[in-house]
Amino acid sequence: MTDPVPLIHGARLDQEAVEPEHGRPHELIDPATGAAWATLTYGGEPEARRAVDSAAAALTPWAQVSGPGRAAVLRAVAAELRTEAVIDEFARLITRETGKRIAEARGEVGLSATFFEWFADTVSGRASQVWSHVPGLRHEVSSRALGVVAVLTPWNFPASIPARKIAPALAAGCTVVFKPSEVAPASGLYLAEIIDRHVPRGTVSTVVGEPAAISDIWLADRRVRGLTFTGSTRVGRILAAATAPRFTRSVLELGGNAPFVVLDDADLDDAVEVLMVAKYRNNGQSCIAANQVWAPARLADDLADRFRRSSEKLVIGDPTDESTTLGPLALASDPERIGVLIDSAGGDTWRTDVALPPAGHFIRPAVSVRPARDSALVTEEIFGPAVSVLGYDSLDEVLESVADGPYGLGGYVVGPQQRATEVARKLDVGIVGVNTGSPNTPQVPFAGLKDSGLGVEGSHLGLEAFLAPQTVAVGQ
Ligand code: NAD
Repeated sequence: MTDPVPLIHGARLDQEAVEPEHGRPHELIDPATGAAWATLTYGGEPEARRAVDSAAAALTPWAQVSGPGRAAVLRAVAAELRTEAVIDEFARLITRETGKRIAEARGEVGLSATFFEWFADTVSGRASQVWSHVPGLRHEVSSRALGVVAVLTPWNFPASIPARKIAPALAAGCTVVFKPSEVAPASGLYLAEIIDRHVPRGTVSTVVGEPAAISDIWLADRRVRGLTFTGSTRVGRILAAATAPRFTRSVLELGGNAPFVVLDDADLDDAVEVLMVAKYRNNGQSCIAANQVWAPARLADDLADRFRRSSEKLVIGDPTDESTTLGPLALASDPERIGVLIDSAGGDTWRTDVALPPAGHFIRPAVSVRPARDSALVTEEIFGPAVSVLGYDSLDEVLESVADGPYGLGGYVVGPQQRATEVARKLDVGIVGVNTGSPNTPQVPFAGLKDSGLGVEGSHLGLEAFLAPQTVAVGQ
């Protein structure tokens, strides 16, 4: 007899798990085995409407709590996220539903806590402003909570991306309607449960279900004043259109196609070390994962070969095993999708020659050397453990190609620090790692250009997204 799969309710409203009224069952798949590990009942229209009602009712009292008062609540959430029991349980859940390696999953829980701490500090540090610019007038400028905010998130960082959005929204005094990805909803529901233990009733309402059915209800409701979305460029466009009728204030963090530029005087082993991090983080499923590797034409084969040898040492397997260095892909369809990208790219292709586990969404890492520049492998986001290696004759050629491409999220430059930094400043992307594969942290802005999105997350600017300035001019 196998254990029965647990049943998870796809709604959490007024601080309780709620059984959806018309919930159809949705299987949650463990990417490491390909088997269902839980059944979630989809929330729908009644839960989506109740979520906005609760968030709207909770708005004024929450917005009226002082900044330091809200900061204290955020710090309490962070403290709970930093307890050993929560780190352990939360990390196991993240690994279960995404296939993320367990050590990275623990890191993600820590990162989620840092977002709550950072935005607690940021809101505590804000000062009110009263100025007199015109004789006889006193200008009071205040920042008020934007209102109810819709938070829609992807599966690849199912804890830290919701934290990156919910923490600043709550810090600003907003209340939240939250829809985690249906691919990895349990992590979002778990985070919501932790937050619920510290905030007033209705402050955060969570519904998982048919994505458009829920977002359409939320974005059509006048009480929802803001949208913060992370996900694909395709869905970002759908949501941008849905927000157009009411000009809903939006942050859209979308797809990327990060260039990884190796300078002609770079140490190639150092470059490979950085590339291993930039490529294989989260099993290659990060929006700033290195996609197109640019090496001076005479070094491209050498670099590809060193990267191949390094990738051959990856231990592919069970992501809960601490010795695993590459886990499965989250989606069952992704090994085939990435295989097609590689096979149709027209480059010299190499794949690691290792046995894959018998079940689960595993794939051999692949490198395509000199693929067609207009192949989808080069022009689209890969989102998995594969790269293209392109040879360049001049750096201008690389900078122009990046500037002309549709995406502008992350990038990397490897080489002697001063020159590499100068090249990084010219790269047409929002965040660049110079000799590091991990450029991002909650304290700095994260903002895509072009088709990679709109608005800023992280830093103090991540809080501004949820504030509405008001000026009151008082005649003296
Ligand atoms: P996705 O766009 O498929 O889904 C993201 C969210 O949108 C999910 O909650 C999903 O339920 C919802 N959604 C899907 N279809 C919808 C529709 N028609 N209407 C409304 N909502 C809908 O993305 P994903 O596969 O979950 O995540 C991977 C993508 O996210 C990649 O493109 C990656 O680059 C991007 N991403 C970007 C960042 C960033 O900060 N820029 C970070 C992580 C991931």
